[in-house]
Amino acid sequence: MEFAQKSEKKKSNQKAGRMMRVLIAASEVVGFVKTGGLADVVGALGRALHQKGLDVRIVVPLYRQIREQHPLKFTGCKFSVPMGDRMVSGAVWEAKLPGSEVPVLCIEQGGYFERDDAAQGSGIYQYSGPGGAKIDYPDNGERFAFFNRAILAVIHRMGWWPEIIHCNDWQTGLVPVLLRQEADRDPNFTVARRWRTVRCLFTIHNIAYQGNFPALMMYCARLPGHLFHHEAVEFHGQLSFLKAGLNFADRISTVSPTYALEIQTPWYGMGMEGLLTRRSAVLSGIVNGVDYNEWNPESDHQIPANFGPENVQPGKGVCKAALQKQLGLAVDPRVPVLGMIARMVEQKGFDLMGIALPTALRQGAQFVLLGDGDPWHRRTMEEIAARFPGQVSLNFGFNEPLAHLIEAGSDIYLMPSLYEPSGLNQLYSLKYGTIPVVRATGGLADTIVDATPDNLARESATGFHFGSYQADAFAKAMVRATQTWRTQPDVWAQLMRTAMTRDWSWNKSADSYQELYRVTSNIR
Ligand code: ADP
Repeated sequence: MEFAQKSEKKKSNQKAGRMMRVLIAASEVVGFVKTGGLADVVGALGRALHQKGLDVRIVVPLYRQIREQHPLKFTGCKFSVPMGDRMVSGAVWEAKLPGSEVPVLCIEQGGYFERDDAAQGSGIYQYSGPGGAKIDYPDNGERFAFFNRAILAVIHRMGWWPEIIHCNDWQTGLVPVLLRQEADRDPNFTVARRWRTVRCLFTIHNIAYQGNFPALMMYCARLPGHLFHHEAVEFHGQLSFLKAGLNFADRISTVSPTYALEIQTPWYGMGMEGLLTRRSAVLSGIVNGVDYNEWNPESDHQIPANFGPENVQPGKGVCKAALQKQLGLAVDPRVPVLGMIARMVEQKGFDLMGIALPTALRQGAQFVLLGDGDPWHRRTMEEIAARFPGQVSLNFGFNEPLAHLIEAGSDIYLMPSLYEPSGLNQLYSLKYGTIPVVRATGGLADTIVDATPDNLARESATGFHFGSYQADAFAKAMVRATQTWRTQPDVWAQLMRTAMTRDWSWNKSADSYQELYRVTSNIR
């Protein structure tokens, strides 16, 4: 009898798990709009959860590039939400996540969201100012406050009540607090009760981006004044979207176990460490996975030759030669090619690059950069390129095909990050047999195993670590890598084999998220 009851309970849990309704809310999703790793996570996680049988939907703003490049179906849902002293209306369009049946709900509000224009240098968060400097839109707070209110309006209007709203980064930080408001204040008792069944998981992809806005934004977002308090949404006299998310979400996650610990310290916590330490019981880390449909040298259509762990050559050599040729470098298999693809911001270690890279270049290495961002980092890199003519290729802008070719054609990948919540490029590099040199922080520490004598003997090493954020530590690690590449081909072959056979697929990460959703939905 007891066994029968248990087995019934297990069956119903499995059923609930299979059918769990999850709404992933984010400001970008790969295939539609992407500025960084967040987009990859949202798309790949959505697809992986759908394959596991969850009823998952994604909600994003309808940017101009989505409208222009994707077939959209009008859902029939129109709504309006209060913003300051007016009502702002919107509508919902639906598309499918490429290669899947996952619905992507796109919130239309032309004035807020359809201003991106690549030809003018305007993106989804920023526009190009004088000298190419990227400047935040002055109304970003208002734009995303609307998006957050719209998410709840859409749930209500469409009548699809998720058990979990999975919020991502500050652009969705007000959702948990608005949800509480709805649950406490909706005059319709049945609706209020429904709101009370919805739980929020808030994922931090990068704690440096906090969405802090002047206090007046409280009024614009129509948040009650009593929440402007340091234990609620106030952060140094401003309304912080991130803080709102961290304080009001039922659970918090971030994108690697090491980063989950790091952000509880002042060096990494960027002012949120106290709050996160207080909430550490509901904080955990899950490393991002890789979408191997897109990033796999055995099937990648964007590289000139395919290869895998069992047949690295001639494919990788062909890719290296193609990379060197395309970028105007000497086509020479005997020279190590160092690759880097990154947003050109302080986080990615460009100040260390400026000092340490010449050490490797003096020893004859070639360096290939793909990146977009701060003009002063560009200038530093241009100065180095001028000092080492013919050895450096700088490629400014966003270029996915070139990103694939760099991963495939480089020998060594550089990631000297000041901090790195999870990082994706080091994982792509592993799959493409491009051995990473990383600072041992956040997700880099969790995913790359240093080539110490012990780890090499155990055949577990996959890259090269350095610890302190200092140029000479980075230079030493880079030289350790280039020397190994030059003088120990057997060791290098082993490193590549281990790296290429590591499984960092989304399947594993999605299992962890599914478990986290289950735990979150059980919070009373
Ligand atoms: P972050 O999210 O901090 O930017 P990640 O390593 O987690 O860093 O993810 C960066 C993602 O964006 C990767 O998919 C990377 O290939 C891509 N990427 C970054 N800059 C460029 C660029 N200039 N061109 C093409 N892809 C880029």
